[in-house]
Amino acid sequence: MPNRPNILFIMSDDHAAHAISAYGSKVNHTPNIDRLASEGVRLTNTFCTNALCTPSRASILTGQYSHLNNVKTLDDEIDSSLPVQSQKLLGAAGYQTAVVGKWHLGNNEASNPDGFDYWNVLPGQGDYYDPTMFEMGEERRYEGYVTDIITEKSIDWLDSIDRSQPFFLMVHHKAPHSPWLPAERHRELGTEGEFPEPETLMDDYETRSEAVKISSIRIEDTRKANLKFDPPPGISQEEKRRWAYQRYITDYTRTVQAVDDSVGSLLDYLDQHGLAKDTLVVYTSDQGMFLGDHGWHDKRFMYEESLRMPFIARLPAEIPPGSVAGEMLLNIDFAATFCDFAGVEIPSEVQGRSGRALLRGEAPTDWRTSMYYRYWMHMQGHRIVPHYGVRNERYKLIHYYGVEDDDTGLPELQLEPEWELYDLEADPTELNNVYADPDYSDVQAEMLVELNRLQAAAGDEPRH
Ligand code: CA
Repeated sequence: MPNRPNILFIMSDDHAAHAISAYGSKVNHTPNIDRLASEGVRLTNTFCTNALCTPSRASILTGQYSHLNNVKTLDDEIDSSLPVQSQKLLGAAGYQTAVVGKWHLGNNEASNPDGFDYWNVLPGQGDYYDPTMFEMGEERRYEGYVTDIITEKSIDWLDSIDRSQPFFLMVHHKAPHSPWLPAERHRELGTEGEFPEPETLMDDYETRSEAVKISSIRIEDTRKANLKFDPPPGISQEEKRRWAYQRYITDYTRTVQAVDDSVGSLLDYLDQHGLAKDTLVVYTSDQGMFLGDHGWHDKRFMYEESLRMPFIARLPAEIPPGSVAGEMLLNIDFAATFCDFAGVEIPSEVQGRSGRALLRGEAPTDWRTSMYYRYWMHMQGHRIVPHYGVRNERYKLIHYYGVEDDDTGLPELQLEPEWELYDLEADPTELNNVYADPDYSDVQAEMLVELNRLQAAAGDEPRH
């Protein structure tokens, strides 16, 4: 077992597990990420605790739920002075630390990366082509494609460091976030019009909450800047959704491909420099993404496609190659997991647990069998009603707070609080809300008790 391995953490933005061939993607092929999976472990139930870019990034750094680190929405910024952050904990233990790529936790002195030996990050969402980046606070513009530049700058840093000390490098890709602009070399990849459609593309939201019906993440309503073209004139609503899906998935999968190339380049670098054996490599994304599932793009909701993050890890001396683990790992567990591998004591402020044993295929007997989720961003962006919920290994209970008149100034959007319950075994695509179904009354009562228990244990409180 390696002592204090290097940690190479590669995180993309909005890369759903079901757009990775190792996870059974029907829409693309990702040979380099698949290589990582075949040489390491693939986790099938890694979940975010708030499916939104900025909050998930903050939870990954701090090991805390959004209500504790105070990064609940896209408008919140991290307090960089917080002492409990992955890079600071590992840095204090002698790790050389860096973050390259998307930060998206604020754009000022109080929220810039702090405690990294090196940082070079995009401002806000950043640009796909010829991006401006801030290298240790200095503005620089780089010519080229953002995913490739992030990879190059990461490798430049690896070339510059002291080989006698371990490193912790966070490679944070902007891709494949909207507006899904591919690298030049991938502009012809895939055939638009021929991508398989997800089973739930034509979902009519029957049995679901009003909160679901009023959301504006249907792909046919996506901004033209994302879809790039107007739909053909005179087509039906159903045809428009099918057209928008093909437009979306074509650009999305093309944009993913450079991320896969990046993983390949980084793995090659580790091989060429004799670092593969002693480096924990993780591939993940800040949350999942609807890829036309339920007729949607975007994320935010607690449904499976958005909640689930890809998580693949390789460390040859410890992690069995080609293994698969189904226990629940949460984004709040990442910081504790890094600490565990680095031999750093996990601070009491960290709410997550180390997943190191899971990666070895040895789940602790007291490992969690349920998780707590909360989405806070009230109606902004895509008219998503805030909600919280609990998921265990079979069921999911979701509570939408409702919308009051004075919340939005839009009287037509008043909604009562609503509940949904899903049996993921009988209904894995979550089309059949069984809340208030007498057959599920015992399950419903148990899930409510579990929701209250987890919410209190996380130090959070009900809305009312
Ligand atoms: Ca994201």
